[in-house]
Amino acid sequence: MRGAATLRKAPLMNMITNHMPTEELRALDSAHHMHPFTHNNDLTKKGARVITRARGVTLTDSDGNDYLDAMAGLWCVNIGYGRTEPADASARQMHELPFYNTFFQTTHVPAIALSTKLAELAPRDLNHVFFASSGSEANDTNIRLVRTYWAQKGHPDKNIIISRKNAYHGSSVGSGSLGGMTFMHEQGGLPIPNIHHIDQPDWWNEGGDMSPEEFGLERAQQLEKAIQDLGENRVAAFIAEPIQGAGGVIIPPSTYWPEIQRICDAYDILLIADEVICGFGRTGKWFGSETLNIRPDIMTIAKGLSSGYAPIGGSIISDEIAAVIDNCEFAHGYTYSGHPVSCAVALENLRILQEEGIVDRVASTTGPLMAETWHSLADHPLVGETNIVGMMGSMVMTPDKESRAKFASESGAVGLICRENCFKNGLVMRHVGDRMIISPPLVITPKEIKTLGDRARLALDLTYKHLKSEGMLKAA
Ligand SMILES: *Cc1c(COP(=O)(O)O)cnc(C)c1O
Repeated sequence: MRGAATLRKAPLMNMITNHMPTEELRALDSAHHMHPFTHNNDLTKKGARVITRARGVTLTDSDGNDYLDAMAGLWCVNIGYGRTEPADASARQMHELPFYNTFFQTTHVPAIALSTKLAELAPRDLNHVFFASSGSEANDTNIRLVRTYWAQKGHPDKNIIISRKNAYHGSSVGSGSLGGMTFMHEQGGLPIPNIHHIDQPDWWNEGGDMSPEEFGLERAQQLEKAIQDLGENRVAAFIAEPIQGAGGVIIPPSTYWPEIQRICDAYDILLIADEVICGFGRTGKWFGSETLNIRPDIMTIAKGLSSGYAPIGGSIISDEIAAVIDNCEFAHGYTYSGHPVSCAVALENLRILQEEGIVDRVASTTGPLMAETWHSLADHPLVGETNIVGMMGSMVMTPDKESRAKFASESGAVGLICRENCFKNGLVMRHVGDRMIISPPLVITPKEIKTLGDRARLALDLTYKHLKSEGMLKAA
């Protein structure tokens, strides 16, 4: 870790310091840049953190402070920051062919190579890729794809997609509708018609007196009930993240996915696994569907596909669905579907993940070590429960472990205090309500895992002290 003092002497100093003073950058940012998912006036008062560079798992801000990024940016920088190979691949591709479309009976080598590679990595008969530039776009593709699939098969009314409350599938009108974030639906007239939401498998918050196993079954059986209520002839597909990410890294009880798979097999509906976070090694296998033993017909991909080095997403589609869609003109596509530079960067990222054994390492060594470190925090008086699979984990804070009580303060108030304490101590963790979550770069080393654990404990200690002194340790 580099402190501010050594940074001033660093040979790369121009890269870091050759910018306006932070306050001026903040003023311009606030005058002209509207941030996503942000109350921009509140941010103006505080001033945004300006991140200027990053290496490995470490971010540096414009004042020279270092942070261990336990969120891999937004769950995406799987290979870590500062790799030169994707940069070189992108420069080579820009020189060779910066852009060409794939609409008008043309193709190019990066799109061919990446779709072929993805077919090789994806399980079973998921052999066909429709490219997008993001997870949101890919899920919009999926809405049109499954509806077109059933219409082509003579069932135009089989167009309802079942999703889950508190799911995250993106922020476009379509993908935001698939998602189950009510605070998003409240703005702009979402959801679109024919999207139906069932309850999520969040045992800690919603399990009541049931055991996790009973609760997992109950939540999965809501899918069966919804199919029966809506009519099998009306339901096109069920979409879910193998493990909910933005909803708070909610790892479902062990009974949940087997029952969902049974129901999907029993009824004629398609299963879409949104692998945008779980894909590309996050859970210790190439795809979360493998870790959770499910057999999707379509997988949504983005984020770790390029480790965030270039925007790209897509849908990986089964032989059967592709055969039906290929029988018509699917009237859908994006200018940047299969953008050559993004494809070249993604290919380089997949090469690194595979050749350096990064995915295997998560399964065999760093994942188990991360789990041990994460679970060791469960003895902290604030922590009700820790959960982790591979390199995605969550920790619930509670004023009373036994009763799984919520804090009397508004949901998220304690989480925000803890997140601020993380930042102060050089750690980026995110909070969802009063749950703290991590999703570090997959290349995090054993030493960095220890640092993550130490800083998280320190943040918890400071948060506990703060809550005590403010009289906030009360249960709702
Ligand atoms: C981030 C995310 C998306 C949306 O991807 P964008 O690239 O932000 O559009 C979709 N699904 C899941 C599970 C995600 O985490």
